[in-house]
Amino acid sequence: MKRNLLILPGDGIGPEVMEQVVRIVDWFNNKKGFDFQVEQDLVGGAAYDSNGVPLSDETLEKAKRTDAVLLGAVGGPLYDQLDFSLKPERGLLKLRKELDLFANLRPAQCFDALTHFSSLRPEIISGLDIMIVREATSGIYFGEPRGIIESDSGGRVGINTNRYTTEEIRRVARSAFELARRRYNKVCSMEKANVMESGVLWREEVTNLHKEEYPDVELSHMYADAGAMELVRFPKQFDVIVTDNLFGDLLSDCAAMLTGSLGMLPSATLGKIKKSGLPYAMYEPVHGSAPDIAGKGIANPIACILSFAMALRYSFDLGNEAEILETAIESVLADGVRTADLMQEKNKAPATTNEMGNCIISKLNETL
Ligand code: NAD
Repeated sequence: MKRNLLILPGDGIGPEVMEQVVRIVDWFNNKKGFDFQVEQDLVGGAAYDSNGVPLSDETLEKAKRTDAVLLGAVGGPLYDQLDFSLKPERGLLKLRKELDLFANLRPAQCFDALTHFSSLRPEIISGLDIMIVREATSGIYFGEPRGIIESDSGGRVGINTNRYTTEEIRRVARSAFELARRRYNKVCSMEKANVMESGVLWREEVTNLHKEEYPDVELSHMYADAGAMELVRFPKQFDVIVTDNLFGDLLSDCAAMLTGSLGMLPSATLGKIKKSGLPYAMYEPVHGSAPDIAGKGIANPIACILSFAMALRYSFDLGNEAEILETAIESVLADGVRTADLMQEKNKAPATTNEMGNCIISKLNETL
């Protein structure tokens, strides 16, 4: 059975970490008899350099046709002066918008071997397993009106609008409730209903949907600022957190630090189900293009590899294979192999990106 993957490595460390993912896709093809068909293309600054836009129409069409998109990272200082519409990040936002990828899934899971790496005490984070579901196609990053205008009294005004419809809230909340049913059956919805009308509507719609369709799932609500505090005070109280685009952006980065490094955090962004029965889907690490370490071959590829594991699980219904890959990673970490971002000991040389890939593939080979 052919399975199609569109790989968009992007900028900075994106191509470096994606190279390791391609090796793992090849491993599944060569050693496990799968038929993943990989096509690569450009996005972000790399696409701008080649085509003058951060995402070409042709690439967008390929993304619509493929079974799953795997993206590395976009952005970098070279592109900081570009017009807003041409910035690398617009390529990523356009993909999310055009594929209508409304539910961004960001797991924050603590690997046993890294418990001591977190800035929080081990007993607070050991065994942590949270899923943050962030609304990804609406809210303040897309709402109109937006822009910078001259103000009547001189000077300028910067405007963004946090706008949510009933349908947008309900569909992402539905994803969260469905996920919770497959996990520990708890959803905490976060907004700022105390000061924002969009938050009042969010809370009402989540509550209504819960009553109508998911009364068996435990639902709680929290203001997003209190949620940020609770995430670092006692994170294990949460199972699935559902929140809007802006708060989800902040809260998931906060959750990132619970597990130690941005280099460990995968994500999935899912949309509606296509005729093929698969959802529109894009998988990408949470981290950016890390210009400070790009080109040095020292980036941690695990977030990107775990993103592929999410693709195996959510796009291809290959949960067993996802688990094989996750277990291989866990076992490499348990052996003490660390890229520089995960190093605490000063007297040991960190693994390079490629060496980490080698170790994971060796562990995969042991499963044969
Ligand atoms: P970043 O995630 O790129 O880097 C933050 C810090 O974490 C840096 O010190 C970096 O070296 C480190 N880091 C990140 N990923 C790592 C990895 N895999 N291994 C080891 N260390 C890692 O965030 P930033 O510095 O705020 O942004 C840099 C650029 O990336 C900007 O242009 C930004 O717009 C873009 N960005 C893109 C995405 C994306 O493509 N999804 C996300 C965030 C930021």
